Amino acid sequence: MINRQRLIKEFLHLVEIDSPSKCETAIAKYLKEKLRSLGCDVFEDDCGSKMGGSAGNIIGRKIGKSEQKNTIFFSAHMDTIESNFGMKPCIKEDIIYSDGTHILGGDDKGGIAAILEMLQVLQENNINHRPLEIVFTISEETGLDGAKNLDMGLITSEYGYVLDVGGDIGTIVNKAAGRNRIEAVICGQAAHAGFEPEKGINAIQIAGKALAQMELGRIDDETTANIGRIEGGKVTNIIPDMVHLIGEARSCDKEKLCAQTNHMTHIIEKTSQENGAWCKVNIKNLYLPFAIEPHEAVILDAVESAHSIHINPILATSGGGSDANIFNQYNIPTANLSMGMEKAHTNEEYIKIGDLVKITQLLVAIAQG
Ligand SMILES: [Zn+2]
Repeated sequence: MINRQRLIKEFLHLVEIDSPSKCETAIAKYLKEKLRSLGCDVFEDDCGSKMGGSAGNIIGRKIGKSEQKNTIFFSAHMDTIESNFGMKPCIKEDIIYSDGTHILGGDDKGGIAAILEMLQVLQENNINHRPLEIVFTISEETGLDGAKNLDMGLITSEYGYVLDVGGDIGTIVNKAAGRNRIEAVICGQAAHAGFEPEKGINAIQIAGKALAQMELGRIDDETTANIGRIEGGKVTNIIPDMVHLIGEARSCDKEKLCAQTNHMTHIIEKTSQENGAWCKVNIKNLYLPFAIEPHEAVILDAVESAHSIHINPILATSGGGSDANIFNQYNIPTANLSMGMEKAHTNEEYIKIGDLVKITQLLVAIAQG
């Protein structure tokens, strides 16, 4: 049923449309026309103008034939981590690679291509399917911003699937970490390092003392923490009066996320105070964790559909965020399905054609209900 050549052609076309975050106009225009040609009512929200981007989130709605069933959605993001202007994809032994000069952009064009091919298959074979919503978001790579600003008045689905993770096809992420960004500034006292160092308060040294006491790395099986950037000081003969620390905490458990964040904040505050420095710690929650029980409909449907086409379903936990975190925050149970992307965000990125075909088969099976 899946038209392999058409799927490949669509994928190649999509990755050749340059669409870094906030520059999604060209791909949004293409996808709106495409969705209309596949029988969808199409809407674009005002998220782009709100965020200073060039296009909004695109929503397609396709009335199903099995009207007794609930509406579900499939979603993928339109933006890529960076521009891949001029990249020429190449195929070697059934694997699609970038030409090595840029990212391929299979993250997340692989998800988009699979969704479009699913709609083609449903249409041309006149297949009975449940009511569907298609959500193509902008600015996922900047911090899930398209999904965060999505006009939820346009979404009627009971549950849905984001296609935005790697791994074997059949991987169903039903649990994912939430993430806090931690930004701190420690202010000490500048002084000449040679003439009167006793008048100085070394902000870099205080940061060092704080970091030495901080639990970082893998905290437990569902919690991680990192300080990823430190900046401060000017020259060797001035005691540095300011240092910036930027880090994060992640956990699949809301309370653990909170506890780890508090721990990091407390250490910075306590160490600054003990050493006569002033500090300010800013915490920003980027997204919350989610966990969906295996017996919930969104997971059951994916598992049963995978079995029906002889794909092995694998429930998985992810330490990374995706638009699925945001949909779950909106109380729409949403799993993240692997669409086969490999080495995303690098110039070595690739995707297997066989995986694109398989994920499309899985989508068709889920859509049929
Ligand atoms: Zn992605």
